Amino acid sequence: MSASLERGINAFKEQIDAPVASFFSSCVRCGLCANACLFHTETGDPKYTPIHKLEPLRRVWKQEYTFWGRFAKAFGLSKAVTDGELADWETLVYDSCTLCGRCSMVCPVGNDIAYMIRKMREGMAAAGHAPEGLIGATKRAVEIGSPMGVKLPALEAQIRHTEKESGLSIPVDVEGAEYMLLLSSMEIMNFPEFIGATAKIFKQAGVTWTISSEAFEATNSGIQIGVSEIAAELVERIVAAAEKLKVKSVISPECGHAYMAIRWEGPNLIGRPYSFKVVHILEVLDQLREEGRLKTTGKESQRLTYHDPCQISRRGGVVEQPRNLLNMVAEDFVEMPDSGTMNWCCGAGGGVSSNERADGLRLKAFNRKKQQLDAIHPDAIVSSCSNCRIHLEDGLEEYGMDIPVVSLTETIAEYLAEDKT
Ligand code: SF4
Ligand code: SF4
Repeated sequence: MSASLERGINAFKEQIDAPVASFFSSCVRCGLCANACLFHTETGDPKYTPIHKLEPLRRVWKQEYTFWGRFAKAFGLSKAVTDGELADWETLVYDSCTLCGRCSMVCPVGNDIAYMIRKMREGMAAAGHAPEGLIGATKRAVEIGSPMGVKLPALEAQIRHTEKESGLSIPVDVEGAEYMLLLSSMEIMNFPEFIGATAKIFKQAGVTWTISSEAFEATNSGIQIGVSEIAAELVERIVAAAEKLKVKSVISPECGHAYMAIRWEGPNLIGRPYSFKVVHILEVLDQLREEGRLKTTGKESQRLTYHDPCQISRRGGVVEQPRNLLNMVAEDFVEMPDSGTMNWCCGAGGGVSSNERADGLRLKAFNRKKQQLDAIHPDAIVSSCSNCRIHLEDGLEEYGMDIPVVSLTETIAEYLAEDKT
């Protein structure tokens, strides 16, 4: 056995905790998860059945942790997992899974397949079977602080530009502010309007906030690739900055997986609770609405729909807040079929967007989103994840659909009362 395969198998063994063992032992092989996964429904290929993507991990569980599996292994009656199999499974675990968790919702015995895929990626990465694109993004995140290689001067340039355009000041490294805002590299480079929109809303609501120059990146490539040590280090950077600035809460921006990483996985990764709260930007905006501190005027007359980012709605529970906010500014809001917790993924989460090899498959899977949109014919799609936004735009272009994709925070800022009176 090669050293890298041994590392991978050992990592698999380490990752098989009580939930994974109970999920494997309770699977009744009903195949219901297949119809919940867009990679399966849009290709019809049985290899994309969610539980099948976990086959090497299942075999290690069986051979190491079950009586009959150990017996069969001892008498040479079962085959050990090989490096060739892991190479074959690399595309199933990384290219055809966005960790969207839709399959976990339909499993009749409650198996959290997305959780298991995360665990399996730990072994795959240890065995040297992670995609090049994701390895590059992870290296940049560790060395530069951003998976896209965005450094502080680039953020500072966007801040200067925003300040000039809006006439507002963007607070950086302000100690004792209520909130510390994180940003994804995609927001900084592709959608810097988000910074101005947030500044405008917070000014109206009288919120004190800041960006940290030492930890502004919200995303976590360590989780996507499956290296917990790196994931923990990236979380620690944010925790150290939030503690240094003594903020009460950290805001996860319009990015799905960033919310999952910092809100739900972070404390487990670093092994201690935070001294601050983590909230998604939509939770902050909805709370301001509830307190009467968010005032809008007028409504968008175009037909709007909302794309629920998987990690924000299904996995994160932020479902009502975007709808409350949209009700403030949309005259003609229409839900897609299967919206909310059962929404279909854009096809590019969970590291798929950093993995160029998966581009063709991702665009094929987008056909599911096309069907959802064809059912309601919206004039524009609103979302709250920059990664979703980019890949919705990409998919719409691929399928010749001319529908703009906009940010919810930016839409709210556009209708702020102070601008209209
Ligand atoms: S839906 Fe659940 S029980 Fe059925 S095959 Fe998938 S993982 Fe197994
Ligand atoms: S988590 Fe989503 S993409 Fe991954 S196997 Fe399940 S349904 Fe498919």
